[in-house]
Amino acid sequence: MARIVKKFGGTSVADMDRIRNVATKVKRAVDAGDQVVVVVSAMSGVTNQLVAWVSEASNIYDAREYDSVVATGEQVTSGLLALTLQGMGVDARSWLGWQVPVRTSSAHGSARILEIETAELEKRLSAGQVAVIAGFQGIAQDGRITTLGRGGSDTTAVAFAAALNADRCDIYTDVDGVYTTDPRIVAKARKLDKITYEEMLEMASLGAKVLQTRSVELAMRFKVPVQVRSSFSDEPGTMVVDEDQIVEQADISGIAYTSDEAKITVRGVADRPGVSASIFGPLAEASINVDMIVQNVAADGKTTDLTFTVPRADLARSVKVIEGLQGELDYRAISTDSDVVKVSVIGVGMRSHAGIASRMFTALADEGINIQVISTSEIKISVLIASKYTELALRALHSAYQLDAT
Ligand code: ASP
Ligand code: MG
Repeated sequence: MARIVKKFGGTSVADMDRIRNVATKVKRAVDAGDQVVVVVSAMSGVTNQLVAWVSEASNIYDAREYDSVVATGEQVTSGLLALTLQGMGVDARSWLGWQVPVRTSSAHGSARILEIETAELEKRLSAGQVAVIAGFQGIAQDGRITTLGRGGSDTTAVAFAAALNADRCDIYTDVDGVYTTDPRIVAKARKLDKITYEEMLEMASLGAKVLQTRSVELAMRFKVPVQVRSSFSDEPGTMVVDEDQIVEQADISGIAYTSDEAKITVRGVADRPGVSASIFGPLAEASINVDMIVQNVAADGKTTDLTFTVPRADLARSVKVIEGLQGELDYRAISTDSDVVKVSVIGVGMRSHAGIASRMFTALADEGINIQVISTSEIKISVLIASKYTELALRALHSAYQLDAT
């Protein structure tokens, strides 16, 4: 007997047929003797509709009312799934966040889970009852309903798996696992059997939007084995696990890309101590997250160019901040470029293998792709390139690291 948390995303519960499909999967696990906790999202599209109604209702943004509206999508699916299970002869009960309760911070719209009370659930699980939990929601200390940020039912699922000491957390979605890269772009992309938490975190934050980033952080902290799998097949998916669970570690596990960043170049800045501080200080104060940075050596010994990236959504604001510094910094010019993509190769194997970076640079050079900015971390190398080369770069790197399906 195992205790398993199964989370079903919006496309998996999009209509009654699909809810019946989910119920069938749950029943199968119950019949096999497992204790099952199900976490559901809202039907696909519903949360977007609720968010749109909220903005239509008023231009006064009250995050408490936002939460009380957008949390309702999950109430519908949890009740419908509990009913469907009961109709199949499975003992099931739905739970809203406040009923469990799932205690959260009061940061409405992006609350953090602080504590889950499990005593009552434990009793019912032992008695064979299936708990169907509305994902994405909780209750703040003042009793108001909170939500956990878009995609938050992944985090609900992992948090329940941790709190209930589950053997596994299955995240059912519309893809059959985590791929070496985006299969819509690289036909030879392969489904990974396993990936480490750290790698998954990088993949998730770099645009491979299979899991909410926060859910992966939580899984890593509490060592919850997570499986990403399809609700439309019975194939095993991708296991997200601790590094020591992977015997043969490849150099590179995956290649991710994101178009969420824009590049800013400040030309002709004085090359003296404190210049970087006087640029990046004010950007930080404006809560703008600078990601990649290069500073050139001053050719004339006096001035230099500084290039960096910011979230594309913050580009205009960033330019304003830097324009405001003109008097102080006396730079020559500022230019921006949004036609860029950040491509990253990711792998914990990088820690122990040499030559990973040079292989990346060679592969891109062979295709005539110019690298504009480079940044690295212990398990990731990222390059900024012109966005028109996205496909070419992904394909070239995918073969260079021998990731191609044969
Ligand atoms: N329904 C919420 C959303 O669309 C939460 C989730 O699906 O994870 O963001
Ligand atoms: Mg999701």
